[in-house]
Amino acid sequence: MTTATLSIDLDAIAANWRALDRASASGVQTAAVVKADAYGLGITRVARALAQAGARRFFVAVSEEGAALRQALGPGPQICVMSGHMAGDTEMVHDLDLCPMLNSIDQVTRHLESLPGLPFGVQLDTGMNRLGMEEAEWEAVAPFVLEAGPELIMSHLACADEPDHALNELQLATFHAMTDGTGVPRSLAATGGILLGPKYHFDLTRPGIGLYGGRPYEGASRVVGLSLPVIQTRVVQAGESVGYACGWTADVPSMIATVSGGYADGLLRALSNNAVLWDGDTPCPLVGRVSMDLITVDISHLSYVPRALDILGPHQTVDDLADIAGTIGYEILTSLGPRYTRRYQEGSA
Ligand SMILES: *Cc1c(COP(=O)(O)O)cnc(C)c1O
Repeated sequence: MTTATLSIDLDAIAANWRALDRASASGVQTAAVVKADAYGLGITRVARALAQAGARRFFVAVSEEGAALRQALGPGPQICVMSGHMAGDTEMVHDLDLCPMLNSIDQVTRHLESLPGLPFGVQLDTGMNRLGMEEAEWEAVAPFVLEAGPELIMSHLACADEPDHALNELQLATFHAMTDGTGVPRSLAATGGILLGPKYHFDLTRPGIGLYGGRPYEGASRVVGLSLPVIQTRVVQAGESVGYACGWTADVPSMIATVSGGYADGLLRALSNNAVLWDGDTPCPLVGRVSMDLITVDISHLSYVPRALDILGPHQTVDDLADIAGTIGYEILTSLGPRYTRRYQEGSA
């Protein structure tokens, strides 16, 4: 049978990386963030395409992801781990040549004692209050940490997707105060920070969502398409209802298509009675509740039964779907389930 197919345009990801690379100030290195299985799209294929496009430094959330990435890329590219050097990571960091971003005095001690001389970076907290050393901690350890030669000092912006938010300038000033004069390469900007302009770029930028076609990078090429096969159709008479809890009731006789895909595949229940699927250029409303494996769609206005309907495509982006569900494109992408056949498009550029 046909399965639900998630198509992933690797050429578009490469094009987005190149465009963000050009948007970074000259002399600035552009890395690539591929945490959470490259935002749900498949770290092996995505990272290889990015390496081919020119990315030399990658960021992941945890060491296990770094290990998978090293298998995909082989030796050479630098793999930075944003959760740093956690208890139990030492062997993996050593064997797979990972570069942990040390987040605390505990992590500094662990790394410098267990793997002296091996690469590391430092993450500072400049106001997000999530990961990294705060000013007082950094002041205490900076002399001997700098002596050990970090590869990178980084921090992360909490509100970069709101250009006018006062915290941006505040974090920028704090980052300068904590790092000016260290002589170590620095990084502050993710996708949103790149768009804030060159004073946020420092030596290296770390785009994630922009590579995958999501806001706030409005100029991105579209990366994903998701096509769901129609399993069966039925006529629902006026007054009859469809799905769990009688979530939708026909007021005229209607042709309802049941398609393969549900909340277990990342089609959030909040899309119930709200989203639209597409037959080419023709919108077809999702009716009733999204269930675990199935959704139901009104195709009464079509003159034939389509083999599949698109829920992500040229007419509906991950951000459109996120707006309908009351979330963000990041969550839509990283929820895309393991049951989809992932089909990669590459080589057409
Ligand atoms: C996720 C993340 C990024 C990438 O952010 P995007 O908004 O997806 O570009 C960069 N840096 C850190 C610390 C992150 O957690």
